[in-house]
Amino acid sequence: KPRLRFAPSPTGLMHIGGYRTALFDWLYARQTGGSFILRIEDTDTLRTVEGAVEFLIEGMQWLGMDIDEGPDVGGDYGPYYQTLRQALYQQYAAQLIASGYAYRCYCTPERLDSMRKEQQAQKLPPRYDRRCRYLTDEERAANEAAGLKSTVRFAMPLEGETVVRDELRGDITFRNADIDDAILLKSNGLPTYHLAHVIDDHLMEITHLIRAEEWISSAPLHSQIWKALGWEMPLIYHAPDVLGKDKRKLSKRHGAFSWKELRQQGFLPEAVFNFLALIGWSFDDKTEFFTREELIQSFSLERISVSGAIYDAEKLAWMNGVYIRKLSLEELTRRTLPYMERPEAEGGLPDAIQRPLDPAYTQRVLSLEHERLRTLGEAAHAVSFFYTEDWESETPLIQKGMDVEGTRNALLRSRDLLAGVDSWEHTHLEEHLRALMTELALKPAQFLGTLRVAVSGRKATPPLFQMIEALGRESTLSRIDRALN
Ligand code: GLU
Repeated sequence: KPRLRFAPSPTGLMHIGGYRTALFDWLYARQTGGSFILRIEDTDTLRTVEGAVEFLIEGMQWLGMDIDEGPDVGGDYGPYYQTLRQALYQQYAAQLIASGYAYRCYCTPERLDSMRKEQQAQKLPPRYDRRCRYLTDEERAANEAAGLKSTVRFAMPLEGETVVRDELRGDITFRNADIDDAILLKSNGLPTYHLAHVIDDHLMEITHLIRAEEWISSAPLHSQIWKALGWEMPLIYHAPDVLGKDKRKLSKRHGAFSWKELRQQGFLPEAVFNFLALIGWSFDDKTEFFTREELIQSFSLERISVSGAIYDAEKLAWMNGVYIRKLSLEELTRRTLPYMERPEAEGGLPDAIQRPLDPAYTQRVLSLEHERLRTLGEAAHAVSFFYTEDWESETPLIQKGMDVEGTRNALLRSRDLLAGVDSWEHTHLEEHLRALMTELALKPAQFLGTLRVAVSGRKATPPLFQMIEALGRESTLSRIDRALN
């Protein structure tokens, strides 16, 4: 059975784009009845950010990516934090030294630094000069006796080529002479990514490794480490980096968010899930909407693309709107109420409006906005005027081509009509108000626009007659009165 792992480093709060690769792992594991494993690569302890793991896991829960093995759930291949696996890395590093595939390096940071500067000045690629690779046994013993600090470096073959098989790109050939003797174990005893992930992927019996394309350049090193340990590599897929629309590395600039911000704005996790799956993968280059089940069925590792993984925030908002329109009214109401009822400062309705809201009335009001909402968070502002008489108009009452007198007259006549109309049903209201408009010889933009602003204070609102029906007679009349004053 396939075993796939997501192996983030908790060096910051994961960006929403960061979940894309995890999603590929998850989809394939679910499709095949395999396992989805979360492994925390926290060996860069100086850069570890407090709370990053919790944040990451909560985000996976929000997206509905359940974890088969990992920090909270455990499993037979743990521990799942690399800092808890140090003894293993040290053991295998020792094995590599004993078998001649690695060596201790005693070079000081100062020496390495001046070497790097020298190489930079000569425009050479930064590379360790391998001085310690050729120390005699006596020199080594002397360094140890003097208590010098050391790292462990991999002894890369000096000649020949390493062919890395990338399942998406095919064979990639590297000249061994171009590859550095990378550090495997740091002087503090902690491993680098290069050593740690090879050992863990082997011991955790990972079958398919999906990771960022930034690792392609060190893949030949990894391939040699696998070989030196006598193990067989998993299948490797380098997934394309998630980029902004300008093809630059994703950042705040692209309107990209964390899952928490998306949730707070009222994005639906199922829409985000669908959206993420299409960043660097497609079913047939045209189908855009997939349920979770459909994605599990249709996903294929072979169709991960090698480029063109764009995070398009506009597209996400559009998709979210489509998902919102697919919700039943009951569901829309149930899911939107908490957004509307939260404090004003967090994006909810004005605090003066009493909570809890009436679900039946809210459902009615939301039915009028259902077509227009792109996020659930937008609802509070879009419908706030349905809940209170205490609002400021956002737009002038007097419409283009109208004057004060004409506006007053239109409102007075509408008021009379509405005060006396026998049925408060929107089609009925529409019929009467349109007749009045004709009688007053006003254009829809003028007459209906005036009424719209009078009862809502907005230019963009739900359909006018349905809005008036929902507001009810008493509120509508008092709003018109207010506009007249
Ligand atoms: N910890 C590595 C990273 O976050 C993992 C890469 C991999 O998946 O192997 O980039």
